Amino acid sequence: MAERERDARSLLGRLRDIMAGGGSPQVRLDLVTALIARGLGTDVCSCYVLRAGEVLELFATEGLSQAAVHKTRLRVSEGLIGEVAATGRALTVADAWSHPNFAYRPETGEDLFQSLMGVPMIRGGRVIGVLAVQNRESRDYEEFEQEILETVAMVLAEMLAGADLVGKDELGPVAGNAVLPMRLEGDRLNGGIGLGTAVYHRPEVMVHRLVGDDPETEMERLRTALSEMRQSIDSMLALHRDVPGEYHDVLETFRMFAEDAGWIGRISEHIQTGLSAEGAVRKVDDDMRLRMSQVSDPYIRERLHDLEDLANRLLRHLTGDGSTAALSDLPEHVVLICRSLGPAELLDYDPSRLRGVIMEEGSSGMHAVIVAKALDIPVIGRVPDVFQRVAPLDQVVVDGDHGHVFVRPGEDVREAFLNGVLARKQRRAFYQSFRDQPAVSRDGYRIKLMINAGLLFDMEGLVESGADGVGLYRTEIPFMARPSLPSVETQTELYDKVLELAGDKPVTFRTLDVGGDKLLPYWNRAPEDNPAMGWRSIRITLDRPAILREQLRALIRASGRRELRVMFPMVANVAEFRAARKVLMAELAREAARGTPPPRRVRIGTMLEVPSLIWQLPALLKDGVDFISVGSNDLMQFTFAADRANSRLAGRYDPLSPAALSILHRVVTLCDAAAVPLSLCGEMASRPLDAMALVALGFRFLSVAAPGVGPVKQMLLSTNIDQVRPYVETLLDLPDASVRENLRSFALDHGISLS
Ligand code: PEP
Ligand code: MG
Repeated sequence: MAERERDARSLLGRLRDIMAGGGSPQVRLDLVTALIARGLGTDVCSCYVLRAGEVLELFATEGLSQAAVHKTRLRVSEGLIGEVAATGRALTVADAWSHPNFAYRPETGEDLFQSLMGVPMIRGGRVIGVLAVQNRESRDYEEFEQEILETVAMVLAEMLAGADLVGKDELGPVAGNAVLPMRLEGDRLNGGIGLGTAVYHRPEVMVHRLVGDDPETEMERLRTALSEMRQSIDSMLALHRDVPGEYHDVLETFRMFAEDAGWIGRISEHIQTGLSAEGAVRKVDDDMRLRMSQVSDPYIRERLHDLEDLANRLLRHLTGDGSTAALSDLPEHVVLICRSLGPAELLDYDPSRLRGVIMEEGSSGMHAVIVAKALDIPVIGRVPDVFQRVAPLDQVVVDGDHGHVFVRPGEDVREAFLNGVLARKQRRAFYQSFRDQPAVSRDGYRIKLMINAGLLFDMEGLVESGADGVGLYRTEIPFMARPSLPSVETQTELYDKVLELAGDKPVTFRTLDVGGDKLLPYWNRAPEDNPAMGWRSIRITLDRPAILREQLRALIRASGRRELRVMFPMVANVAEFRAARKVLMAELAREAARGTPPPRRVRIGTMLEVPSLIWQLPALLKDGVDFISVGSNDLMQFTFAADRANSRLAGRYDPLSPAALSILHRVVTLCDAAAVPLSLCGEMASRPLDAMALVALGFRFLSVAAPGVGPVKQMLLSTNIDQVRPYVETLLDLPDASVRENLRSFALDHGISLS
């Protein structure tokens, strides 16, 4: 290490003394800026702090005019300092004056300075200020100087968070009248409703000692903490050993992150630069959170949440901050408020007390949501500024079905909530009363009601709902919950379990449907402009047949002597169907040659979700396809050219429109004429009114989300299909965008139950 670098690094030791010494935060800020300027040999060191309204205020400076302190203010994005705050990234410029973003502030006297290096002060993944140094002459700052400045920025960020320099309420957006009832909106991540007391997910562990004395001692502390943490995760895993497959896999995956060499390596590197073990964990975590805010790939974002969960755990082991005491003190009914949540963090809470989870971030595929589904806890994600709007101990109603949060609900909302809970209970009991009754319409049509599943615990819905089978088993979900492609053996075991849980009821497996928004962690794919219409689903598995072959092999082995039903997703033409079927036939032959007991019967079908296939249906039906299942979610998005994931378009196009119904009518007519069984497994089948239109069009198989079985069956039991059919046919040629209201009125007039 060069002498200059060694001298500069010794600055960290003196920084520790300043932090440990007394004095107000302002005094310490002043001392630190002076120390940095001296230690790095710069003419200026300034600290800017973010205040309400996205304004950066000069809080302390060595080298600029003291008169500018607490006077100079910059907007985020304004000038070079503003740019550091806006991007959250360090910036070094040798000639600030010629930089396009330079903002001249005469009161600071900065016309004298040529070069600048600024780094963000980050806390909890947010930029809370900027630390900058400047020099009169043009200077290229070295990498180690930036590293030191970043370390100091972190120490200051930590101090500012604990100090009262800026009111906490000022740091967040103002949320209007905060004590009145309020309704917030977010994304529905898991349905259900709950009422409870707001509990902030454990405040972050405060790290008081950021700079270390001796890297070897810190490394030893890190190793001990890592080993303690792994042991505690192992005990948690042992505790949850009996839960169904993927849920357990999620925890196993989480355990693997604790071994992640990259993560531990980065922490170790920071220890070598002079940070304490906890300081290094915090630094890596802060860097990661900031990166996370810039990553759009949902899978990566979700895995970063897991690492964050681990970082907090590790910090607790390092700082001895016992968290369990706080957890034993919980109110009886808890609504957890968090920025995001790892799966293990969720399990730290007593699930019987959890009535809901509200996240500032979060997405449906994240591991904590998968666990919440297993535990039946409503979750709402992407609620903006939730910490500013919900205070600890506030009463909160979580309506996971609609993505609504009612904070400090008035009597009316509470009453509606209690009624809602009661009504749900009664409705469940009511649906249970005809659970074992077949779904037969009033005029005697037998409709097969199946469920959609994708995780083993979904299979419970098959028994509970009394459905006729699984009409769509989405096999990609277990692929997404694992860190690597599952082996044939793992897949075989999983599919075997699914079939076992289904008993004598049929299960239709859909082959891997990844791509689009369903990303696999182990496939590095180039970003696509339009992933929903990109390289996804059957397109991937036909291009990479080994994956398809392995999956089909596992399905054949798992089926034993049972029936094997397979369908292919996103098929756009007959050639694709044939190609996929050929792979299946080859695998069947291969397995037969190996002596694997053949399935009792093989049924090969296709999803119909790409409009082009409709125009080749006659050819497909002649080609010996055994069954067809309409994937209305995708079929509608492609028919109306309306991204199904774009919430702005939600409700803009209606599957109950003459256009959509006419398409479905054509499909039914063609399949009926060829006597090929036809089902529909998109979301619309779960809605009683939509399902009424579908059976009127001639659908006899519907595959719905398990909670939809009761309401759809109730509708069927009260419907005279022969009466609805002619009515629906009169709607097909209307010029309207939707015939939903016409159908609703018809149902009401004819005593059809739509609850
Ligand atoms: C569909 O597209 O309707 C469907 C059932 O498949 P997924 O929702 O999994 O794309
Ligand atoms: Mg689909």
